[in-house]
Amino acid sequence: MAWNEYEQKIRSWGYGDDAISMIKKAYVFAAEAHKNEKRMSGESYLTHPIAVSLKVAELRLDPQTVSAALLHDVVESGVTTKKLEELFGKEISFLVDGVTKVDRIRYRGVERAVESIRKMFLALAEDIRVVIIKLMDRLHNMQTLKHVSAHKRKRIALETLEIFAPLADRLGMWELKAELEDLCFPYIYPEEHTWLTEQIKGKREAGEQYLATLKPMVEAELVNEHIKPVTIAYRTKHLFSIWKKLVRNDMDFGRVLDLVGMRIVVESADDCYYAMGVIHKLWKPLPGRIKDYIALPKPNGYQSLHTTVIGPQKHVVDFQIRTVTMNYEAEYGIAAHWAYDASGKPKSAPRLDDKRYAWVQQLQEWHKSHDGSSEETLAALKIDFFKDRIFVLTPKGDVIDLPEGATPIDFAYHIHSEIGDHMFGAKVNGKMVPFSHPLQLGDQVEIIVQKNKHPTSDWLDHAKTSIARNRIRGYLRKAGELDAPKEKKQKILEAVVLAKDRVGLLKDIASVFSSRNINILGHKSDHQTKNFSRITLKFKPKKGLPQSALLTQIKKIPDVESVAIQEEK
Ligand code: MN
Repeated sequence: MAWNEYEQKIRSWGYGDDAISMIKKAYVFAAEAHKNEKRMSGESYLTHPIAVSLKVAELRLDPQTVSAALLHDVVESGVTTKKLEELFGKEISFLVDGVTKVDRIRYRGVERAVESIRKMFLALAEDIRVVIIKLMDRLHNMQTLKHVSAHKRKRIALETLEIFAPLADRLGMWELKAELEDLCFPYIYPEEHTWLTEQIKGKREAGEQYLATLKPMVEAELVNEHIKPVTIAYRTKHLFSIWKKLVRNDMDFGRVLDLVGMRIVVESADDCYYAMGVIHKLWKPLPGRIKDYIALPKPNGYQSLHTTVIGPQKHVVDFQIRTVTMNYEAEYGIAAHWAYDASGKPKSAPRLDDKRYAWVQQLQEWHKSHDGSSEETLAALKIDFFKDRIFVLTPKGDVIDLPEGATPIDFAYHIHSEIGDHMFGAKVNGKMVPFSHPLQLGDQVEIIVQKNKHPTSDWLDHAKTSIARNRIRGYLRKAGELDAPKEKKQKILEAVVLAKDRVGLLKDIASVFSSRNINILGHKSDHQTKNFSRITLKFKPKKGLPQSALLTQIKKIPDVESVAIQEEK
């Protein structure tokens, strides 16, 4: 794209003269730096940074970020960051440097991916704009993936699905997340993708036609109730999300009817609730499908009302109802906080202390306290940040974001390490629960603390989050208790044999043990009755040897009436 066309485009998005002259300088520099390079597609390399920077500009990020997006690959082409700093100043060169650092890592299996994620998160910790450039870079690379060699495609797609899409999700950029997933789908599950595309051919169009008949009814009824809809639109569900839903529903299309849905955007939150009332007056809602993400936003900040109704001809229809602001945030996510307006100042200062992005701080903390790099690291990241989240409430009604399966211990450490360290009991919805109690969506949790109470090693069995686990481990290590369970001496078992007295009985029993190389640590026998003896043998169990085998063999000894194995008393 030539400069004139580029300029026209960003001007239409509200970038003013100062911003444009800054961006032009970067454009010209990038064009020069990449002038002899080509993309795999055969196109000039410059098409790539141009595409990435336009995606960034579409999010209305500041001109520094748009410039850095244009320059994001020039270091690869031999330009030094020092030179960039001289020409473009500290901020832009810092952003380019961040992207370059993340880029330098090539993915080779899980280990490398982890390293990259960590770098990426470090970048995130320093400046989230770096991550946004990186996400847009990945989006464009996915859009042009067909030009890349076949063996690379799958790896890149998998990495996108496992790392970049979840990251976009956590940043609240759901449209981007869905787009990335749909782009990965044919490379990762080619057969399934073809099958699904075939299956839903025509179904979507039919769905859209159906919604077209519903739209005027909804509109008329809303106006009737004095609610001014800003927009009413139908939306086609993303292919990959349909696929995931099918997998969850045993591939039953009957249960995945809502291939299309309707979105109503209104002016205020009150109007959202009124509009939902209007919809429910028109058609009966399906029980259990009404979700109020306005009162209780998703952990990533998503707000909307969701409901599913049984429309005319008994068709199931999904509705999303939200305000203009909620809709804007749903599309832009965290990027909305950097949105740049024509007056030259960001609309809101970039703030990471926003509660909705508390997890970003959790990540930073996790980085500081964790230095290992292994598969375990990836697992830890996935558990904490990529898995489904539940959210629960403090007694004051604050929403706390935790991974699924989290317990009161996780909750306590999430509130404050001191509360975790002195946790004495937990109440869920007013009732005392054990520490192992898995928390459910919407639970109100209260932690009771006592000064002299401290973590014990069994807490580790119930803590799901790495923040809690690391702190418990830290405490136990300091108290010298952590290694205790590992070095705990092996338990000693007793075989209690009841048998008729006879000569050589003890020898027969002992030979069973010696045939299995088990040392008898001691024995005693006492007469029960005139003819019966109870013989107790102490021994250390051998690893991998089932006690049942031992029991059977002893039972076979003549005159043995019964045998039992128990822990030493
Ligand atoms: Mn790139």
